[in-house]
Amino acid sequence: MGHVIGIDLGTTYSCIAYLEGGKPVVIPNLEGLPTTPSVVSFTASGERLVGTLAWRQAATNPANTFYAVKRLIGQKFASAEIQEALTKLPYGLKEAPNGDVAVVLGDKTLSPPEISAMVLGYLKTCAESFFGEPVTQAVITVPAHFNDAQRQATKDAATICGLEVQRVVNEPTAAGLAYGLDTKKNGLAAVYDLGGGTFDITVLEASDGVFNVLATNGDSYLGGEDFDNRILEWLVTSFKAETRIDLRADKLALQRLKEAAEKAKRELSFTAETEINLPFIISDKAKSNHIRKTLSRSTFEAMTADLVERTLPHIERALDDAKVAADRIDHVILVGGQTRMPLVKERVTKFFGCKPEEKVDPDQIVAMGAAIQSGILDGQVRDLVLLLDVTPFALGIETENDGYEMIIERNTTIPTRKVKAFTTVEHNQRRVRIHVLQGEGFLASLNKSLAVFELVGIEPAPAGVPQIDVTFEINADGLVRVSAKDKETGLGQKVEVRPSSGLSEAEVEELRRKQSGLGMAAKGANG
Ligand code: AMP
Repeated sequence: MGHVIGIDLGTTYSCIAYLEGGKPVVIPNLEGLPTTPSVVSFTASGERLVGTLAWRQAATNPANTFYAVKRLIGQKFASAEIQEALTKLPYGLKEAPNGDVAVVLGDKTLSPPEISAMVLGYLKTCAESFFGEPVTQAVITVPAHFNDAQRQATKDAATICGLEVQRVVNEPTAAGLAYGLDTKKNGLAAVYDLGGGTFDITVLEASDGVFNVLATNGDSYLGGEDFDNRILEWLVTSFKAETRIDLRADKLALQRLKEAAEKAKRELSFTAETEINLPFIISDKAKSNHIRKTLSRSTFEAMTADLVERTLPHIERALDDAKVAADRIDHVILVGGQTRMPLVKERVTKFFGCKPEEKVDPDQIVAMGAAIQSGILDGQVRDLVLLLDVTPFALGIETENDGYEMIIERNTTIPTRKVKAFTTVEHNQRRVRIHVLQGEGFLASLNKSLAVFELVGIEPAPAGVPQIDVTFEINADGLVRVSAKDKETGLGQKVEVRPSSGLSEAEVEELRRKQSGLGMAAKGANG
């Protein structure tokens, strides 16, 4: 069997690793770097660039440079998240025929999994050039708080680029694995993961090779980008006050501001003050305008303190669900580049009353954990015997009059399977509509729609007589399957499934053929 790679497909950066002699090792990209910007760009001549090359020309080609696509994956165009993204992204978004969000490239559109597949394809090429042989299998990580649609879309992205996904692992769980294996530490751990676009907190217990995730919580719409945006807004507002020019209208200027904001943010993790210098940010008739501003760490902290505070109720909720008090946590593990910010470290230290561990690089630990998971699956890793994860969301179905019946509670250990019996409400009812929802709202309309099933061909019977068993399954990847069966008629019942989002299997296959036909794997970064 060839090599299996562990992939951390990040919002801003991605990283790949593999297992060598039972130890995780990061695979460098084609430029020799451990992490790769999760960016795809199309030049005027139609050339596709991925990674560092794509990011380098973002400022001059903002409308065709696609970054932070992880924030779009598995999302509906009409969702609040996408409507907010529309105001911030320099590239266009559109509604796909099935209601999903699509990315605009000239007169075409691309689905988010298609773009993520290009990033994954580049990472695959890096691994192939490293090993000197084809790589076809991977373990891929997702934020613990990703829902079914986001997980499925990520898996689709891997399939499109020709990678078979052995397992989808939650990022904080992967980090816990990498940390635990490295130090052989038993006890209770909290993994605080603040990446480019998402925040997760996971409480897990490690004991002699068994990893038991007790609870997870988070916000799939809070991350480093929000910190960059605060600096960006500050620059735009002060520039407008000084010149009356609104830089938001200029895509090129916005992209330069965004890059400068992120750079300033990174610098402020290590220095007390930084200078933001953007000559010729815009030409206004005869006059050229420049930006030259000094930003202190304390001002930046005041601008973003509320973002850090927003993570705390999630920690409380995860601890509550795990039935663990903050002072019982033995190890706090920081994951994600944004945790390098001193204010984040301070706040987390204060919350738990202990200093976070800093031994493993927060940018690489997730990919390393994914590589370890591949080793657990193929038996290379023997001292870790079991990994028990949980589902982040409650699942249930719609009942009469906008009612909601919860079937699987959040933080249930996966894989899991629950069967629930339902009946008809009308005499001689021949079909039953089953609406699967995610959430904990007491009304169906307060929850997120996952899929609609129709069970047809129920034998005519008085209301309340037929027994319909609805089976909910969540597999080890965190993916949901729901099926329904009329007990009376038994097997052979037809179940019509209308998933409410995502690409169909045929679309994934078509895109896979298209991308492999383009020979992306062979062309790498310039492919
Ligand atoms: P990840 O998704 O883990 O790659 O996290 C990337 C995020 O971490 C991005 O928003 C980066 O801007 C941010 N980041 C990286 N390095 C630093 C740093 N030194 N200080 C603050 N944020 C950082």
